[in-house]
Amino acid sequence: MSFERSIAAFGRAKNVIAGGVNSPVRAFRAVGLSPVFMKSGSGAILTDVDGRHYVDYVLSWGPLLLGHAHPAVVKAIAAAAARGTSFGTPTEIETELAECIVAAMPSIERIRFVSSGTEATMSAIRLARGYTRRPKIVKFAGCYHGHADAFLISAGSGALTNGVPNSPGVTEGTARDTIVLPFNDAAAVERTFVEHPDAIAAVVVEPYPGNMGLVLPQPDYLKRLRELCAEHRALLIFDEVMSGFRVGPGGAQARTGVVPDLTTLGKVIGGGLPVGAFGGRADVMSYLSPEGPVYQAGTLSGNPLAMAAGLATLRAIRDDATLFERLEVLTRVLTEGLSEIAAKHGIAHTVARAGSMFGIFFTDGPVVDLESAMKSDTAFFAKYYAAMLDRGIYLAPSQFEAGFVSTAHTTRHVEQTLTAADASMAHAAAQRAQAATPVSR
Ligand SMILES: *Cc1c(COP(=O)(O)O)cnc(C)c1O
Repeated sequence: MSFERSIAAFGRAKNVIAGGVNSPVRAFRAVGLSPVFMKSGSGAILTDVDGRHYVDYVLSWGPLLLGHAHPAVVKAIAAAAARGTSFGTPTEIETELAECIVAAMPSIERIRFVSSGTEATMSAIRLARGYTRRPKIVKFAGCYHGHADAFLISAGSGALTNGVPNSPGVTEGTARDTIVLPFNDAAAVERTFVEHPDAIAAVVVEPYPGNMGLVLPQPDYLKRLRELCAEHRALLIFDEVMSGFRVGPGGAQARTGVVPDLTTLGKVIGGGLPVGAFGGRADVMSYLSPEGPVYQAGTLSGNPLAMAAGLATLRAIRDDATLFERLEVLTRVLTEGLSEIAAKHGIAHTVARAGSMFGIFFTDGPVVDLESAMKSDTAFFAKYYAAMLDRGIYLAPSQFEAGFVSTAHTTRHVEQTLTAADASMAHAAAQRAQAATPVSR
């Protein structure tokens, strides 16, 4: 079966949509392929426009904890749509979803809903700056916090402690206020606080970074960030847009016991509809307009359809006591299987997992930050990726993305995946060996 219709669809899209896609990673550039256009999803399975089926480990980049078209979510969205799609007034369902999140997330006393993770992190740092009356933020290389200007900054080289824009369109002025440090290096944070006294409003971190592949925090790293922020009166912001309701019901903060001042959420809390949120300490959140001076707003914030999808998802999580245990076990079977297969074929690799997030890097490791993640053999990944796609396994089309398991995934899906991985890794290893053999004359 070919990818004929997907290729044609991409050609048509490119005539009217910039780059043919509405978010860059969807274009499959990192794996050198033409993107697959999807038509439908059901449970763990995606179906593309050519009629090919895939076991899906992307799950819309994380939101679909219950899999595609979960009956309770579909029903909730349909019922909400029938009552009217948007009112621009407060509605009771916003409070219901807020109550669900406040009950689950240790750091959140008050919350505000927005429409994307980008909006959530952008608003959280404005609030942190307004509350502390300080200009700078600290972030970590390889952590992604959406595409707001303040986050599109790379580490400066050498002695330069200020960041540099990593996209045209972001000004030097903006870059000056973002300090970028390596992940898992608490001493660097400590030094930075000393170098910039009373200037750092917040330290923003993905507690389980899933946007450079999956990288785990070293023991006590997050706790040390907590202590340093308290000591220097900066706010600690956990960006749990990906890890919230994904690594466990209370996110990374419940798993690690480290409670940040502010938390950003998105993905799972919208159940597949556009939702983000930020929340935290009541005294900090009271700085938001209309109670306080920090402005933030949104025409479709707290949209009833999005709230309904999120509420149905979070209720399913709340009402199923063994849900995360099952996800964790299945994810472990998957990553242990992948690791065994890679070892069998003599492929250098490092696997990581947390709850229902997982990743495999094609490097010996250890992978602790962006620099070590970048040692991964991306050419090998591209070969493995294409072979997996051919065998009906849909992974994120980049080495530097996490994979996700849903409650719709079964042992049978995982077995099917491992069978495909065995053949794909053998195929990719043979291709690599061939490419490395000098051409005989
Ligand atoms: C996806 C993601 C974002 C951005 O969310 P969008 O809804 O894509 O704007 C921010 N932070 C993290 C950790 C994410 O994974």
